[in-house]
Amino acid sequence: MKQKKTVVITGGAGFIGSHLCRFLLSRGFRVVCVDNFLTGSESNIADLEGSSDFVFINHDVTLPLEIKEAIHYVLHFASPASPVDYDRLPIQTLKVGALGTHNMLGLAKFKKAVFVLASTSEVYGDPLVHPQPESYWGNVNPIGPRGVYDEAKRFAEAITMAYHTFHGMDAKIARIFNTFGPFMRRGDGRVVPNFITQALADKPLTVYGDGSQTRSFCYITDMAEGICKLMLSKVNEPVNLGNPDEYTVLDFARKILNLAGSSSKIAYTPLPVDDPKTRCPDISKAKKLLGWEPKVSVDEGLKKTIEWFRNN
Ligand code: NAD
Ligand code: UDP
Repeated sequence: MKQKKTVVITGGAGFIGSHLCRFLLSRGFRVVCVDNFLTGSESNIADLEGSSDFVFINHDVTLPLEIKEAIHYVLHFASPASPVDYDRLPIQTLKVGALGTHNMLGLAKFKKAVFVLASTSEVYGDPLVHPQPESYWGNVNPIGPRGVYDEAKRFAEAITMAYHTFHGMDAKIARIFNTFGPFMRRGDGRVVPNFITQALADKPLTVYGDGSQTRSFCYITDMAEGICKLMLSKVNEPVNLGNPDEYTVLDFARKILNLAGSSSKIAYTPLPVDDPKTRCPDISKAKKLLGWEPKVSVDEGLKKTIEWFRNN
């Protein structure tokens, strides 16, 4: 029988990480999930604990990690990811992006494994180019409230690329744009869990600013497939992964009210400092190099997500 390939997923008990664990198990991989539950939770992976191909290690990846078994892929997804989380966890965010990435690159190098970094559209900051192609270098305030996340991810990209060019490591960089779906944390502060939980509780939807800022939302199953395609590809340059279907935050709030059948009102509250005014991925590279593009419409994804929040 062919030996299964083993994937380490850091941040595997988080939103994207737990979906990746499930997705890769279903594709015949063995999964070693590493997490310290900083923003993730045991309940996200509870259904996987019985699987013989699933191993959980409770570990803070800012500290070195030793694994005895053969490892073929390291997917580094550990990091607070919501603006509210990284605002309350600034040092942990910087450390997991810098020290955590260094440690996981070290693990991948020792195991001769492929490395995949979960980078972010935040490396483009408050973009002056729209939509954002990978060739755009970004517009980031290093000392603003989002700087701890943006700069940690920019450092993570730099060290990942250095391991590729200097050590010849097969390293990949996924620039992930706003992703949503089941298993998002109710109180994580991001727009999708906030609006859905508010709509379902008939509470006002908190639109920050006048709601004219834009975002583009990708459903989680599409994202998991894109990450898997990148992991198995020969590509070593950064690739945007996201859904280019772009909405103003106000239109997005109205869409959720409509899909949830809610009569909640809109409450306008102050716009957070440095909140990017626009964001939309140019995904031509992912289409060309990976043959990937999202298949699930925002409406379809939101219906599933609203249903999940209703039942959980
Ligand atoms: P999440 O907060 O749900 O998951 C992050 C996970 O990392 C959590 O389980 C947390 O406990 C774990 N973690 C944090 N620090 C750790 C440490 N030092 N050691 C071990 N585990 C640690 O966030 P998410 O939305 O699932 O994001 C996952 C990754 O994808 C992050 O790296 C994030 O930057 C990136 N990303 C996400 C999005 C998105 O829209 N969800 C967009 C761009 C990038
Ligand atoms: N937002 C909002 N109300 C909320 C939460 C977020 O209007 O309750 C806005 C936020 O200002 C931003 C967008 O929604 O413009 C997306 O925010 P999120 O925190 O999901 O992630 P970001 O894209 O800013 O990283």
